[in-house]
Amino acid sequence: MIYDLHTHTNCSDGELSAHELADRAITRGVNALSITDHDTVLAYRQLDGVNLKGLTLIPGIEFSAIWQKMGVHIIGLNINPNHGAIGEGVSRQQQARRLRAEKIAERLEKAGLANALAGAQQQAGTAELSRPHFAKFMVESGFSKSIEQAFKKHLGAGKPGDIKTWWPTMAETIHWIRDSGGIPVLAHPHKYWLTRSKLIALLDDFVLAGGMGMEVLSGPQDKNQTAQLRDLSIQKGLLASMGSDFHSPKTGWCYPGMHTQMPAACKPVWTAF
Ligand code: AMP
Ligand code: MN
Ligand code: MN
Ligand code: MN
Repeated sequence: MIYDLHTHTNCSDGELSAHELADRAITRGVNALSITDHDTVLAYRQLDGVNLKGLTLIPGIEFSAIWQKMGVHIIGLNINPNHGAIGEGVSRQQQARRLRAEKIAERLEKAGLANALAGAQQQAGTAELSRPHFAKFMVESGFSKSIEQAFKKHLGAGKPGDIKTWWPTMAETIHWIRDSGGIPVLAHPHKYWLTRSKLIALLDDFVLAGGMGMEVLSGPQDKNQTAQLRDLSIQKGLLASMGSDFHSPKTGWCYPGMHTQMPAACKPVWTAF
């Protein structure tokens, strides 16, 4: 069985439609797929009633949240996307994204970029407005050299466009997920660039708030990171999840089904589905 429990579509900041992603996952040999778009479950409505040729869909979402003034991502797996608690979370997040986008645009305009909100909105189309949409507009308008530069100078952690004011606390997102019958999973723990003791503090707070799992494999990562995350999941009694965090076919090193084997000592999250 190949599981990919972290992927994105163009309902958030991914490139592919839900149908295209499902097709690509099937081609790559994925047996169980979770689409975990940022703060939306729209992809599940789009795939309602579609024949997925034996592919099992595990309903999921990736919520943006804050922990100790830092942005963190909390995945909900095996949620009921139609549950009121998820609906409440999604509408809260939509409002947060709108308010945040206005503030990001204001800051980018101060930095010399005109029409940032309309430009990003146009990039997003009907998708949830997110920082990569701003980044694309910044590149297309010649304001930034590349997406990477746009994040490095303006949108990334600690930069003016990194605004967390409206995000809920980590505990709130855990409650939405638990209330809907889902499993809260801390996304990509190695991507917050925390010291070991700070990462342990995050995991302890996560468990205290009702968190149940963590990603042990997330996108491309090296052996040392995998060993560290494996050991932490065991020490903290957390279920282990894995996923590609796939966004776009342009990144050939990150694709649906890229992880095929959970470290043997871990308790896989799917044993709790
Ligand atoms: P948002 O959900 O609006 O806060 O945007 C965060 C998203 O931006 C992440 O989920 C990534 O997909 C993307 N992202 C974050 N950092 C970078 C980066 N340095 N380069 C490209 N994309 C990034
Ligand atoms: Mn993303
Ligand atoms: Mn994430
Ligand atoms: Mn993600």
